Amino acid sequence: MSKKVLVLPGDGIGPEISAEVDKVLSLVNEQESLGLALDQALVGGAAIDAEGSAFPESTWQKCKMADAILLACVGGPKWDSLPPAERPEIGGLLQIRSRLDLFGNLRPAILYPQLADASSLKPELVSGLDILIVRELTGGIYFGQPRGIREKEGGIREGFNTYVYDETEIRRIGKVAFEAAMKRGKKLCSVDKANVLEVTMLWREIMEDMSKDYPEVELTHMYVDNAAMQLIREPKQFDVIVTGNMFGDILSDAAAMLTGSIGMLPSASLDENSKGMYEPCHGSAPDIAGQGIANPLAMILSAAMMLRHSLSCAATADRIEAAVESVLDKGLRTPDIYSEGMQKVSTQEMGDAVVAALKA
Ligand code: NAD
Repeated sequence: MSKKVLVLPGDGIGPEISAEVDKVLSLVNEQESLGLALDQALVGGAAIDAEGSAFPESTWQKCKMADAILLACVGGPKWDSLPPAERPEIGGLLQIRSRLDLFGNLRPAILYPQLADASSLKPELVSGLDILIVRELTGGIYFGQPRGIREKEGGIREGFNTYVYDETEIRRIGKVAFEAAMKRGKKLCSVDKANVLEVTMLWREIMEDMSKDYPEVELTHMYVDNAAMQLIREPKQFDVIVTGNMFGDILSDAAAMLTGSIGMLPSASLDENSKGMYEPCHGSAPDIAGQGIANPLAMILSAAMMLRHSLSCAATADRIEAAVESVLDKGLRTPDIYSEGMQKVSTQEMGDAVVAALKA
């Protein structure tokens, strides 16, 4: 039976990097008879322009049918003046995540030894860095009700949001994190603010309770302010970090920058059955869109994650990751990861080099 993969090229650099991923997936599909059926649909600004909605019904139908979704990126200045709910990010991206209940966000922060110079930290602090951040993606303060801006007595406005998690939400993200830790270094750090926020006191209690089912995993807890500091002071102390939506949003961007380039980092967002949407961590980079210089590797590595986590093709994922390593070894660099003495290449040349490495 074929495995349906839906590619959503989106906006900005999205179509350029998607074209390179398409080459890679088509090649491995042919080489290994994986039975992938690749399809595409519009989302974000491109969908607004063509169909008047950031997440058209036709795209939703294809998302529901797909075994896995690969999204490039959405958004751009052209659509920034629309009402928030209609914009590519909220009307498109957040809609897909919440309608598919993609609550488990996996964001690896891996420093490729070839790019150690690109990190803002000293090479000895980051060389060999390999952290996985597991972020809850469909709950917490970003979705809690009530929320809004209201007027108090005396005409003074106040903004308010609600930080809420119930036990089931905490347990299901805890399960993703403990199981990820089992497959890695068996160390899990749960990040909260349990000294101040009741919602994270419950979070900590549930994580403790769950740890009884995973005796091999060493569970520790850290307050989010300390975690931010430790990520910069001694990032290699971490193996897997699990945290809520807002803390994860912030910490995963900080961890991303430890690795030097946002153009190298993939992510996965999974539902309870490991169906998922895979996307690079970066946005649509309107400042470089259409110039053929975007780094396609984060999306190519997202495709590898998709093959591993949703399509049971771990060996193919390994091959793609090895091909990326080999092009870095050869010194090929898009401008975002370029350093002196390396060979500067375009988006297309980088994609072609990965394809060539897979054929070698
Ligand atoms: P961004 O990630 O698009 O860009 C930040 C910087 O990184 C820019 O200088 C950009 O040129 C560079 N960059 C990003 N990806 C790159 C790549 N693959 N290769 C080389 N350089 C790369 O973030 P931003 O500028 O804050 O946002 C731009 C737009 O993207 C906004 O509309 C924003 O809402 C949207 N956005 C979308 C997503 C998503 O689709 N998941 C995520 C973040 C931002």
